[in-house]
Amino acid sequence: MSSVFDDLVGQEHIIDILKGAAAASRTGSDSQEMTHAWVLTGPPGSGRSSAAVAFAQALICPNQGCGACNECHSAATGGHPDVEVTRTEGLSIKVEEIRDLLTRVAWAPSMGGWRVVVMEDADRLTESAANALLKAIEEPGTRTVWLLCAPTLHDVSPTIRSRCRHLQLRTPSLEAVTNFLINRDHIAPSIADFAARVSQGHIGRARYLATNESVRSNRKNIMQLPFQLGSLAAAYQAAQTLVDLATTEANVSSEKRDEKEIEKLQEAYGKGATGRGMATGGAKAVKELEKEQKSRSTRMVRDSIDGALLDIATFYRDVMMVQSGNSESMINSDMREQIESYAANSPSHSTINKLNVIMVARETLSRNSAPLVTCEALMSHLARK
Ligand SMILES: [Zn+2]
Repeated sequence: MSSVFDDLVGQEHIIDILKGAAAASRTGSDSQEMTHAWVLTGPPGSGRSSAAVAFAQALICPNQGCGACNECHSAATGGHPDVEVTRTEGLSIKVEEIRDLLTRVAWAPSMGGWRVVVMEDADRLTESAANALLKAIEEPGTRTVWLLCAPTLHDVSPTIRSRCRHLQLRTPSLEAVTNFLINRDHIAPSIADFAARVSQGHIGRARYLATNESVRSNRKNIMQLPFQLGSLAAAYQAAQTLVDLATTEANVSSEKRDEKEIEKLQEAYGKGATGRGMATGGAKAVKELEKEQKSRSTRMVRDSIDGALLDIATFYRDVMMVQSGNSESMINSDMREQIESYAANSPSHSTINKLNVIMVARETLSRNSAPLVTCEALMSHLARK
């Protein structure tokens, strides 16, 4: 029988625990297996939020997470009254947002089972937001289950994490990701292998690459940038190209979503009608949504640039491996010849330097520096021998 846990790649070690907890929650026994606060940690792309949503489905589904019933479906698509998945587009989750959330989940679950809150970015809680959340988690006898997701346990405030059960996701193996893409998404084996390899265990990125021709060709262009750094002018041009490619990629996905959101909001306020609703609350709500969308798209562009920098880092990582005599575990094996010839023509100490400056640039970007300026500084560094 298929289950919602089938899509968790390489996480067998936690699936049994989650299944056991869901089963225990059903019997109502006072077992140790079920608890109402969990922290799921794991490297980016390992599927922390997918694991949390699967667990939410298993808790509310009459068949322990079949993946096929109405409950399972509505829980995954945000339509279930007892399952709330919170994502933040901003850099932090503020105390007001937690207060709103607590108001929304204050009622007993409508279906009589559990109310489940999945918080995707528990690492972004401000201190006061964390304190507000802590009170809710500590409340005894509640039917609410909290599933907090974060990169590592250290990203969650100590008082919160001490009250949660911790599950650690692993980076799935290359083989597990490849097989998943082939079996689940029916991707051709060569593309599945490529996508799995260059995504380094990041499932979402692997699927995105495997199912998107234009994203694959974007990546190809980005991976050629290290060869286009013959002069300072060329380095500046490369920086511009990188920012342009990353921006286009980010905008393609955010524009579609933005439009849909605005439409939905206008419908809610009675689009086309000249009624009072649109005139008073509606216009203001649309304006607020647009502001949110703008800050989200800024973040998506940054994420996209960061992804491009990580891709470029895999190139220098491969060069470094070849220079140290190991060309077996190449990430970009489709570029083998280029990588070997680059490795033969540049000193290995400069490769390590280049990897370092890429990491510094990522760090700088994460502190809200101007993307183009950061990339220009980076590329002019990479242009040096
Ligand atoms: Zn189900």
